[in-house]
Amino acid sequence: MRTPFIAGNWKMNTTVGEAVTLVTEMRPRLEAIKGVETAVCPPFVSLPGVRDALRGSSINIGAQNMYYEPKGAFTGEVSGAMLKDLCQYVILGHSERRQFFGETSEIVGRKLQAAVRAGLKPIFCVGEVAAEYEAGATREVVTRQLMTALPGIDIPHHLVIAYEPVWAIGTGKAATGEQADGVISLIRQTVERIFSKDFAAQTRILYGGSVTAENIAEFAGQEDIDGALVGGASLKPDQFVSIVEQTAKAKRK
Ligand code: PEP
Repeated sequence: MRTPFIAGNWKMNTTVGEAVTLVTEMRPRLEAIKGVETAVCPPFVSLPGVRDALRGSSINIGAQNMYYEPKGAFTGEVSGAMLKDLCQYVILGHSERRQFFGETSEIVGRKLQAAVRAGLKPIFCVGEVAAEYEAGATREVVTRQLMTALPGIDIPHHLVIAYEPVWAIGTGKAATGEQADGVISLIRQTVERIFSKDFAAQTRILYGGSVTAENIAEFAGQEDIDGALVGGASLKPDQFVSIVEQTAKAKRK
């Protein structure tokens, strides 16, 4: 019942010209794959160019962040209303935002609420850092992140959650499919507690962290994993297309 989803987080990579070239190259190849929803998440400045390059396409666009206030004296920030005409999704709570820009789960919760009210579909990232993983605290940390950010927000029409163990992001050390599936089941149970059984059953939960064409099958083959949030490999057309193709194949079974 849940359409598999693969989103590419381009992070702070690509100029406007490079972003348009990249998406133009991937467009026909991604559109040819059926049964998987896709999204590309370029830097803010490339959103208009990528939107124009994807007019009429089934490929979605996401922003990588937004601020929770609707407008005003917040130099350098971008609101949900500003993004609404440019993209459908917005990544919130990415570990790099938490690590380098001091975003707490309380801030992420405010951003989630603002995104939902602006009509954007959040891709909400949670995950433990290496020390928490080594201390066996993964389930506690992820539960706390969800319980701090989600209760109290309006029930979203669409929510995507990405479980991204921080020790796996950009390190080449991915979790195993089984590890990720276990945490993702816990996330689904927690979403059920916060919202409802029906909402949890329709919420897509992705794995993220060093996903490549070489290991995607392990994740896509797990029942509770609905796709992936892909960083580095989403900038390489052959890798990204293969990740989407393999997900379509695994989920058809
Ligand atoms: C990410 O940026 O969300 C991510 C998972 O990065 P990578 O795939 O490069 O580990």
